[in-house]
Amino acid sequence: MTVGVLAVQGDVREHLAVLGALGVRAVPVLRPRDLASVAGVVLPGGESTAMWRIMSVGGLAEELRAALCGGLPAFGTCAGMVLLAQEITNWPERYFQLVDIAVERNATGPQQHSFEASVDAGELGELAALFIRAPLVRRVGKGVQVLGKLGTEPVWVRQGHLLAASFHPELAGDARVHQYFVNMCRKE
Ligand code: GLN
Repeated sequence: MTVGVLAVQGDVREHLAVLGALGVRAVPVLRPRDLASVAGVVLPGGESTAMWRIMSVGGLAEELRAALCGGLPAFGTCAGMVLLAQEITNWPERYFQLVDIAVERNATGPQQHSFEASVDAGELGELAALFIRAPLVRRVGKGVQVLGKLGTEPVWVRQGHLLAASFHPELAGDARVHQYFVNMCRKE
């Protein structure tokens, strides 16, 4: 099975490495045609505004939207969560709007306020999670499942074939969240 990582900006290499370590063929997605061979796609952390601008040139945003609407599994981490969110409470732009959550961008403050914390991921147990200028989820729609919480805050959610996390599982040295996504890709 091949899983793609959107490779326009952000921590692409780190996701490719974790997926590779799980025995999955992981490829960067740069052009619309790269989507043809993938069973799922990771939207990495980075800068959502920059990612969207780059993706919109050359038609990748449009192709990716069509693929996601057609059921391609996706996992958005941090900026990737912002790209998937229905609503962004403190930002005028809108991106894919496919997961029924409202997020506040950069809600954990500037880069120097980055922190590591333990996320309660239910059956998966406790996850060591890194938050870097992270979005926080301010509203969760009815069809959205909360898979992980930081205290009472939802930080890892799923709506059908779409998964989103506020934190950076690719930096934590713990592949359980990626394994969860790989299992989703195998089933869809
Ligand atoms: N601040 C970024 C954004 O909203 C997300 C930060 C990150 O991915 N670490 O696009």
